[in-house]
Amino acid sequence: MQSMDAESEKKLLIKEYRNLLKACRPNMEKGDKSLIRQAFNMALEAHSNMRRKSGELYIFHPLSVATICARDIGLDTTSIICALLHDIVEDTDVSLEDIEGHFGPKVANIIDGLTKISGVEGKTKSMQAENFRKILLTLAEDVRVILIKLADRLHNMRTLDSMTRTAQLKIASETMVLFAPLAHRLGLYSIKSELEDLSLKFTEPAIYKEIATKLQETKQQRNKYIRRFMFPIEETLDGQGVIYDIKGRPKSIYSIYNKMKKQNIPFEEVYDLFAIRIIIDTGIEVEKSDCWKVYSIVTDHYTPNPERLRDWISVPKSNGYESLHTTVMGPLGRWVEVQIRSLRMDEIAERGYAAHWKYKDGAASVSDKNTEDWIVKIRESLENPESNAIDFLDDFKLNFFSDEVYVFTPKGDLYTLPANATALDFAFEIHTQVGVQCLGAKVNHKLVPLSYKLKNGDQIEIITSKKQNPTEDWLNYVVTAKAKSKIKTTLKEERRKISLDGKEILIRKFRAASLPWNNENVNRVVNYFKLPGSSDLYYNIGVGKLDKSALNNALNFFETAEKLHAKTNTKSNNGKVPSGNIIQNKPDLVIVGENLDLDYSFARCCNAIPGDDIFGFITIGDGIKIHRTNCPNGMRLMSNYGYRIIRAKWASNQISEFKTFPVGIKMTGIDSMGIVSKITDIISKELQVNMQSLTIYSNAGAFEGSIILFIYDTLHLDELIKKIKKLPGMDSVNRFQVEEKLPLITN
Ligand code: MN
Repeated sequence: MQSMDAESEKKLLIKEYRNLLKACRPNMEKGDKSLIRQAFNMALEAHSNMRRKSGELYIFHPLSVATICARDIGLDTTSIICALLHDIVEDTDVSLEDIEGHFGPKVANIIDGLTKISGVEGKTKSMQAENFRKILLTLAEDVRVILIKLADRLHNMRTLDSMTRTAQLKIASETMVLFAPLAHRLGLYSIKSELEDLSLKFTEPAIYKEIATKLQETKQQRNKYIRRFMFPIEETLDGQGVIYDIKGRPKSIYSIYNKMKKQNIPFEEVYDLFAIRIIIDTGIEVEKSDCWKVYSIVTDHYTPNPERLRDWISVPKSNGYESLHTTVMGPLGRWVEVQIRSLRMDEIAERGYAAHWKYKDGAASVSDKNTEDWIVKIRESLENPESNAIDFLDDFKLNFFSDEVYVFTPKGDLYTLPANATALDFAFEIHTQVGVQCLGAKVNHKLVPLSYKLKNGDQIEIITSKKQNPTEDWLNYVVTAKAKSKIKTTLKEERRKISLDGKEILIRKFRAASLPWNNENVNRVVNYFKLPGSSDLYYNIGVGKLDKSALNNALNFFETAEKLHAKTNTKSNNGKVPSGNIIQNKPDLVIVGENLDLDYSFARCCNAIPGDDIFGFITIGDGIKIHRTNCPNGMRLMSNYGYRIIRAKWASNQISEFKTFPVGIKMTGIDSMGIVSKITDIISKELQVNMQSLTIYSNAGAFEGSIILFIYDTLHLDELIKKIKKLPGMDSVNRFQVEEKLPLITN
């Protein structure tokens, strides 16, 4: 602009002025053209040689604002005059009286409002949206003030490049917080979108540029898709003689940006980059039924998502928006939003309330009465920002099919499942093999657990792995009979295979121990492990829950038990024969100074294991309790009831190898990937220890864990602790009392 010579500048000005007149034409009455000319001349003279920061002649600004008022909002001649004169009272020598003298009180009044708002804006550093709304309503007696203000802001945003970075940021964020929502409220959709996009351009320039570039790059591909999508619909529409226009418009950069941010996805994964608009040319009396007719044609070709049907034809939005929206599954498994509306609705949607009056009496003529009408409507809308009685329909979920849920494959095939069905149900619905090998699922491109409850319209991709096998848990994740029975069958089949393997292993063990393979002996092993039956025994061996050492313990135990049995039988006349059952649960222990027949058990407060220093405490009615000497509970007993203490020690380490004892270990450290599997590897693979439970709490990078496992003796435990301590990130590893929370035992 700066380099432009005076002659070209004049030519451009004339061109812009002609554009304004063209935009005004639909709303002009006799004499309006001359009034606009007078206003333009007044502004031209008043701003004379003033230039904006960009170097452009100042007059281009009011001229552009007036054009926006006429073209994008459809305002009347009074508004155009005011737009042309909106900055002259503030910035030039022309007074409000001059304006009133020339154009009358109404124009003067509107310009007064605009000037006052400018004053407030300049003074306030950051306006709260609510305050701003109040200021607007107080200062703007005439709602045209607000509409012109919006046009003014839009042009300032379009020309924000020449401002300083600080000014850009202030104006851009103010636009986002105040003006874009205001435009939305007034139903000025195209202005709202442009304001948002421009704000983003200055607040997040890199992201704005990225999205804009990618939109441009994908344009051809998008248009090709739209043509493919529309082809069958157009054929039907043509066949039925519908007169229509199609617009395939990309969503605004700002709304794409919002989607990326909200769903945390890259541009490439935003699936609804555009909406297709079918605008039908039809009479006002049949437009509603015609829109539904088109809806029916669209959904004949493509399956709609019932959750995303929006009927703003029967009940328009509170800002006047009327349209019928549906989202259908298009080719290549992509969701496509289709907006269906009449020409009239389209104009209202683009220009907001201002367009309403045009259609009010069926004739496109302007009268003051009509203008006042819509001004009143706008005021009402602005004065009641909470009156969202109609807007809530926006979020209203249309549950047409409440017992069923409609979902889609990545390719767009529709599946119907019962309500509450999960991703796993869906996998089985596709194919048993897909279900059995289901590792996870992506719903609308996001990873979800197998138990994820499907929602209408979800698009689901099942991730499978050949290594995957159903587990018992899966039965809790599914609701369909099909999935349930398939999981059960697979589990049974799997179990049968594993049990056979387990049986093989046990047979080999028996052979190695020269134990005859018969029911009686198998049952002894079953009883030893306290299992319900032989099939459970085989299964537990097959899955490795009962490993080599456990089986060795069992078989060795029979030998020991037989020896003990022989021993106790010789003493049977003293009447205190410990049953085989009691021996089963005890290691060999020497109660010093007493005989072996005394019944004893381990105190649950400290869970002594072979190798620990121990003592016996004679309880009333519960035999001898064995405590660790460092057990806090035991120490209290020792100090209070010294006379009931008896010495005890482990008989030998040899025998203790056949039994395991529960021990708890506490750990703290830095959380790292796979820490759980590293710990469990040491426990179950390296040291072949059985684990009862493992709990890990992770908090902000640190973790605290506890394991309860079955250990032979203290040597064994020390070895384990040493190994776990060596894991990277491990801080402390200590034994703790399994039942340490039990109340103190006094008996
Ligand atoms: Mn201005």
